[in-house]
Amino acid sequence: MFDTLTESFRNTIGKIRFSDDNKALSRACDELKKSLLNADVHHKVVKNLVASVEIKTKQLGIGKENLLKVLNNELTDLLTVTGNQGFVFASKPPTVVLMSGLQGSGKTTTTGKLAYFLKEQKKKKVMVVAADLQRLAAVEQLRQITTQVGVELVADENMKAEEIVKLALARADKELYDVVLIDTAGRLAIDDELMSELSRIKEIAAPDEIFYVADSMTGQDAIKTAITFKEKIGISGVILSKFDGDSKGGVALGLAEQVGVPLRFIGNGEKMADLEQFIPERIVSRLMGAGDIASLAERTAAAIDPKEAKRVTQKIKKGTFSFNDFLEQLESMKKLGSMKSLMGMIPGMGGMAKQLGEMDMDNSSEIRTIKSMISSMTKKEREDPSLLTNSRKRRIALGAGLGQVEVNRAIKQFDSAAKMAKQLSGKNGMKQMQDMMKQMQGGGGFGQMGRR
Ligand code: GDP
Repeated sequence: MFDTLTESFRNTIGKIRFSDDNKALSRACDELKKSLLNADVHHKVVKNLVASVEIKTKQLGIGKENLLKVLNNELTDLLTVTGNQGFVFASKPPTVVLMSGLQGSGKTTTTGKLAYFLKEQKKKKVMVVAADLQRLAAVEQLRQITTQVGVELVADENMKAEEIVKLALARADKELYDVVLIDTAGRLAIDDELMSELSRIKEIAAPDEIFYVADSMTGQDAIKTAITFKEKIGISGVILSKFDGDSKGGVALGLAEQVGVPLRFIGNGEKMADLEQFIPERIVSRLMGAGDIASLAERTAAAIDPKEAKRVTQKIKKGTFSFNDFLEQLESMKKLGSMKSLMGMIPGMGGMAKQLGEMDMDNSSEIRTIKSMISSMTKKEREDPSLLTNSRKRRIALGAGLGQVEVNRAIKQFDSAAKMAKQLSGKNGMKQMQDMMKQMQGGGGFGQMGRR
């Protein structure tokens, strides 16, 4: 996320050799302007931002440190408009959220992601309501997604949208749901019928929030439609979907100022875990190359059960880490979302996220091989890798439809991973890990640059 912007900020500031005069400052500001325009930030937003960065740096005293400080503040201001940040719960549950958006924008997927976020990270009881009853395919899609996420769906193809919303809200009250997400109808374009349907549902549901889901790949159009929705039905936040596409990030930067409501979440992948809260301070920290440890910690805390982590660490230390443990670990890794989105949160690792591309924990060929291999093992073999004699390996290869060479390689990989984990969990493990991270980080981000 924000690879292009982060990189262009890094390049811009990195290039400047300050001689601490007006000329150097205006050169730096020109570079900044160019990189923001390149990232598709709206030209008016760029103009205002760069002008105030220039003025305020002069006031503070021209120099690299001050420029960085001012840029940091101005970016944070730019992203912060009045309104809620991230997800805000109503003082009295359930928190009712109306999800709106054009067809194909990613509204249904985003509703599922939001339900997943609330259930897994916030530990809330979530109900999803299908108020888009005209398109049967839409209800079916929502049914699949809510089943996958494991949250309640209220849908009835024979009822009107308004009726089902009333019914669902009454149930949510009685059954003490924390959050109700109402998925409304989408259309290919904005029309009066859509707006009047949304207004009717809004009246009945009296929602705490109305989110507008916009496809970030549509660039400035995403902003335009958000403004129309704001004028016609009064949205309280925007969620930008498909940010992992070739979007350069500029839309996210200008959105709050242009639309006048905060950007609340960003969808950056097709998986349910690929949704991030948009908290201005955290985003700016990431843009400046300083990472976003707070979000990383939240995500790992939700995915990793401390008791389970302790159990696994004990097994690793004893050298009794089994194939079953491995499968369980893979499952919990999935909850963390894509590797790429995680890397972007680690200070100085943003650049690496880009290199990783779409590396997928679930679908890499190594992981698939190991998974099918494990599925052909007996219960005992899964618990005790040392049982795997040559004849057993042959049987496993046959059962899994793999070559024996592949099976041997996979078992070897598993063995050496388990050994390395054992080493790292030992006395000097932490130091070894740190050394490894340092080597991987190489240059580092802005944080280090400012101090050079
Ligand atoms: P709706 O018509 O607005 O409900 O849109 P859908 O939820 O059906 O999404 C349309 C398509 O966009 C689907 O293929 C989704 O998988 C895809 N999609 C939604 N959000 C994202 C995202 O954040 N990243 C990517 N890559 N695809 C997404």
